[in-house]
This record gives sequence, C-alpha cells and structure tokens, in this order.
Amino acid sequence: MKHILVRRASQVLTLRGSAGPRRGAALRDLGIVEQGAVLIRGDAVVAAGSAREVEALSGARQADEIDARGCVVMPGFVDSHTHLAYGTPRLLDYEMRLAGAAYEEIAAAGGGILSSVRAVRSLPASALEAQVRAALEAMVRHGTTTAEAKSGYGLDEAAEYKTLELYARLDGQPLRIVPTYLGAHVPPPEYRDAPDAYIEWTCAHMLPAVSARKLARFADVYCDAGAFSLAQSRQYLERARAVGLRLKMHAEQFTRTGAALLGVELGAASVDHLDCAGEQELRALAGSQTIATLLPGAVFHLGLTRYPPARALIGAGAAVALATDFNPGTSPTYSMQMALSLACAQMRMTPAEAIAAATINGAHALGCADRLGSLEPGKQADLIVLNVSDYRELPYYFGGNNVRQTMKGGQIVQ
Ligand SMILES: [Zn+2]
Repeated sequence: MKHILVRRASQVLTLRGSAGPRRGAALRDLGIVEQGAVLIRGDAVVAAGSAREVEALSGARQADEIDARGCVVMPGFVDSHTHLAYGTPRLLDYEMRLAGAAYEEIAAAGGGILSSVRAVRSLPASALEAQVRAALEAMVRHGTTTAEAKSGYGLDEAAEYKTLELYARLDGQPLRIVPTYLGAHVPPPEYRDAPDAYIEWTCAHMLPAVSARKLARFADVYCDAGAFSLAQSRQYLERARAVGLRLKMHAEQFTRTGAALLGVELGAASVDHLDCAGEQELRALAGSQTIATLLPGAVFHLGLTRYPPARALIGAGAAVALATDFNPGTSPTYSMQMALSLACAQMRMTPAEAIAAATINGAHALGCADRLGSLEPGKQADLIVLNVSDYRELPYYFGGNNVRQTMKGGQIVQ
C-alpha cells in the first residue's frame, strides 16, 4: 500500500490527547510538533511527530512526498452543524433585514424558513444536487473534511427523503457527510396551526422510517419561540432515541427555553447555539458528555451582539465545539476559518481553543472522534496544509482562505 510523507511542516498540530471531549486546559493543548512530519499509509495516519522520528520509519523511505515547508499541518475541520441542502439563497430576507424589517415582516413578505421549504419542495433533485455540490466544493477548498448535514427544509415525506437521499448519494465525494433528520425545524405550512399534530406525524411516521432506512444518524429539533416548545421537543427526541437515532438540539438561541437542560437530560450528543445560556445550563453541560456547539456565524450575519458565552462555558468545564451553521437565512458561510476568527475576536476564545473546538470536539459532537479530528496513528488521514507558519495566524488573517491543500482519507482533494 502506498505511503505518503508530509514533510518539513513548521508546525504539525496533532491534537493528540485523551479519548474524551476536550475541556478546560486540555482544550488549549494542540499537541504541537515544531518541524514536524506526518506519515500516511492508505487512508490512515501511521505517525505524526518530529521530522527526525517520522522520517526514520521504514515506510517513509519509499513514500510519495508532500512538501509542507513553512506550513502548518493540522486535521481537517469537522463542521458539525450545517443545513447543507436549501436550494436557493434568501436574498429577500437579507435585504429586508438590513433595512430593519422584523422576522415576522420578512415571513409575511414570503421570506424566512418557509421560503426555503418552498424551494426544496419544488426543485428537482438534480437542481438541489447542484447547489449541494457547489457548497461541498467550497467547503473542501476551505479545509473542511467532514460535515454534518441537516434536512428540515422539506418537512414532508417527499422533500425530506429527497434531501436525505441526496446526502447519502454525495457522502464521500469527497467529504464525509453525517446526516441529521431535522424533522422538527418549524411546523410546515399545512400544519401551521397544528404543531402538535405535526409532531405526532413525525413521531409516528418519519422518525421510525428514517431510522429504519438508515438515512440519518441524528435527529434534531429547533426549540425556540416560533418553532417548537419544550414539551414538543421532548416528545420528538424521546421518540427519536427510542428508534435508535442520536440526538441534537437547536437550544437557547433567541430565547432561554430550557432546551439545553433537556438535551443534557436525554443524553444528546450536542446542544447547539446557546447564545442565551445561563448559569444552570453551564453547570449542566460541564457535568455531562453533551457537547456545547457554538455558532458565531449566525450572530454575526444577523448583526446581533449577543454571542454565546464561550469563556464561561470553557471556564465551567463544558466541552465546546465550533461549527458554521451554514444555512441560507442566518449563516451563509461554509468557512470554518471564519467561525474561528469570530470565536476569537467576539467570544475571546484563544486560537488554540478555537482550533480544538473546530476539529476534535466537532468530531465528538458527531460521535466519530475514534476516527476523526486528530492526527494520531490509526486515524483517518484527513488533514490540511495551511499557507501560514504559526497556527495563531489561522484566525488572525480573517476573511480569506489560508488553506493550501486538503487531504481526505489519504487522497489530495484540493
Ligand atoms: Zn442550525
């Protein structure tokens, strides 16, 4: 089997460490090797360490070489929260919001989440595929090697299957796509005044079918004003868990609902957003395995000022992850680098914390940290070569693309 040697890196960020999610001081430990190298065999890492040690290994002598002179080499980003398939951008929302319109006015003018529902329902699968492929290509160029992808702009049987089947078809081309059934995003138009009946329908019909057909690993619910209540969220998540899906939640984004505590109680893999989380939520998350996934892109794009309390979460001992929340309404960015810059500038995370939150803890939020998120022997060779020589430059040079090369499973894909 072919060996590849990535040589002469100014820094290799191995992210090696203990098996669990990174918290506290461990979140700042990137396992940096100065003047490092990575040896890869097939799709897996053989060794990541000092050039002297790695280049002395027998496989290194015959290896194909990638010259990473002067570059940082690190694991590919794990973007653990995206709404990948949405059809068309929401430019009406954008302009109206910039002009000062409220959410209700935008919805009344035909914008909002339900406009994405109309788009996804009406577009042929080929057009939806073209939109998703373009987004995946942009993600790869910007260093993402694994992305979670939610449904939830279909909200009826045909359009939810159209979305989830698309994710299954595009998985591995070249990104790993981890699919999530966001059946409880908002009540669809035909259930506008009957959200309970909609939850009944997803619980009786969609959740078991999606699980049986292995179209999703996770189920997600948007628990907030204008979406679903805490009681409805509990009903949906308990059913999802009973049919074998792992759980995620949109929690404490615009209002404090108790969603994060429910997520912890039910053993959710992650609770996401947390802009309005308070003391009780911090303590509960710190004492749990549930990942606190922060999505600063949404706060930025909406022009808001209340970012999630990253420092308090890290200080309390919660395991924090960062993701893009790529979606057409509130966070139209596929750039994990942008999420890192926002995390540092707006939430006062250190560059090292932000990198660990965007790689190894993202992998924990998707339940695949045994294979992804760090450069350690036996793990998948998902790595990026950066056009910078010190990892702190990655969030520092904001708004651009610092990725020179992306490797997925030992193959150069960009
Ligand atoms: Zn979201």
